[in-house]
Amino acid sequence: MPAGRQIPHEGEAIILRTWPFREADLVVSMFTRHQGKVKGIARHGLKSRKRFGGALEPATQVRAHYVERPRQDLVRLDHFEILWSPLRSAVSSSGLAALQLITEVLEEALPEQAPEDDIFRLAWTTLKSIETEGSAGAMRLPVTYFCLWMNRLMGWMPDLRRCTTCGADLRNQTIHWSSSSDGVTCPDDRPANSRTLSPASVAGAGRIFHSPLVDLVLEDAKAPVCPESLLVFAIAMLERHLERRLRSALALTMALTI
Ligand SMILES: [Zn+2]
Repeated sequence: MPAGRQIPHEGEAIILRTWPFREADLVVSMFTRHQGKVKGIARHGLKSRKRFGGALEPATQVRAHYVERPRQDLVRLDHFEILWSPLRSAVSSSGLAALQLITEVLEEALPEQAPEDDIFRLAWTTLKSIETEGSAGAMRLPVTYFCLWMNRLMGWMPDLRRCTTCGADLRNQTIHWSSSSDGVTCPDDRPANSRTLSPASVAGAGRIFHSPLVDLVLEDAKAPVCPESLLVFAIAMLERHLERRLRSALALTMALTI
């Protein structure tokens, strides 16, 4: 970037997280479509409801107007137009937990300023499919869809068809996995403290990787597409590769099992 030159940007973005900065400012972490994860400063963001309104709420989809500044890590946020807001309706505790899990995974998994168009489209679609006022059961499919696809797009999704240790064909069988080892195994090679995925769970994963979310949501209303064990597995794979526990995962699991 030439010294001293400011570069204006305009584009779609998802708000991931905000935190207070100085007296009245906010630092905002957002996932932009064309620049990946970007951090910026919203001057007077704590007070200026007129400029930003509810647009800084995590998980909000916006058209962001911001300016890259020379020799500054933080971009300057000018104004945001809300394209989709989780606050457009009442948010249930399970809806809130689902939104938090998605923004937390994005915040932790994405590098700074690297465009990730596939992941952006995944997040954009999943957020819109979450009926935030809906029942806990209705959250399971979109969140499982997001977590499994996130694993695949990050290159973290193990092949569920073969035992990592002996190479045995695991199709139509119960498979074993553990959060402390890579891959999945047959019963003979299962690691200590292993957990299982039933053939129905594995089939659910297959449907998630082969059908658009909008179709699966319709199917799910008739008969659940994915058992809870699939979400537990997908979250454990994310946590294994992020090398940390996801704060929102516990809240989500509790909301889904109540
Ligand atoms: Zn084996």
